[in-house]
Amino acid sequence: MRFCRILFVLLSEQRRQNGFFCPVSCSARFLFHCCSSSKPRSSPPNCSEPLITGPYPSRLLEKAVQELTRLPGVGRKTALRYALYLLRQSPEVVHSFAQSLTDLRDHVSHCKICHNLSDHDICDICAANNRDRTQVCVVENVHSVMCIEQTGQYNGLYHVLGGIISPMDGIGPSDIELASLISRAEEGEIKEVILALSPTMEGDTTNFYISRRLAHLDLKISVIARGVSVGDGLEYTDEVTLGRSILGRTPLQS
Ligand SMILES: [Zn+2]
Repeated sequence: MRFCRILFVLLSEQRRQNGFFCPVSCSARFLFHCCSSSKPRSSPPNCSEPLITGPYPSRLLEKAVQELTRLPGVGRKTALRYALYLLRQSPEVVHSFAQSLTDLRDHVSHCKICHNLSDHDICDICAANNRDRTQVCVVENVHSVMCIEQTGQYNGLYHVLGGIISPMDGIGPSDIELASLISRAEEGEIKEVILALSPTMEGDTTNFYISRRLAHLDLKISVIARGVSVGDGLEYTDEVTLGRSILGRTPLQS
């Protein structure tokens, strides 16, 4: 028993001198020594807890953590990890990081034609000569444009609404970029409008409203197909999606 106690004391002293590698943060060695007190601990400490609840060693660090928590999904624990990571980088890396955020805010704007993000007045898609200018795909936001572009299956133009009609949230037709879509369609070059909004009640409402507003024009108005996801079994598909898949079936190409 006495031998075990001596062995435990020796191991504890060795741990105190060497520190632990934290399973969460690679700065664990520093944090362990920082968090460790004269009171002996029986297990490796949770390195992030004392630093979150206790006073920060630097007001500038605390300020950086506060600013990082403005990002969606970033709490104080994650923000602290980001701030400590940045502190370990070279000044050039951190300055480049900060400059890119400043440039993002100052120089990125919306395309004057389709409202996609752009570094110039007209985005690269609207300015491209090799795009099909008779097709316009209507999407809710810029993220949708990037998703569709990533497929490589579409070569027309876009129109970003910047939202969808949602009476419950107080968003009406005048709150989205709908008037400019009507104006573009009335110019005559566009032959097909593809509605690629989310398959929700708000998305369907917006689809219906747009189709009504464009009904006086000689346009083909289509909605992207909705159905079973690639790789999913039918038994895992909800009945609404499966029903729409049957209604929206396409001829099998041999
Ligand atoms: Zn554009």
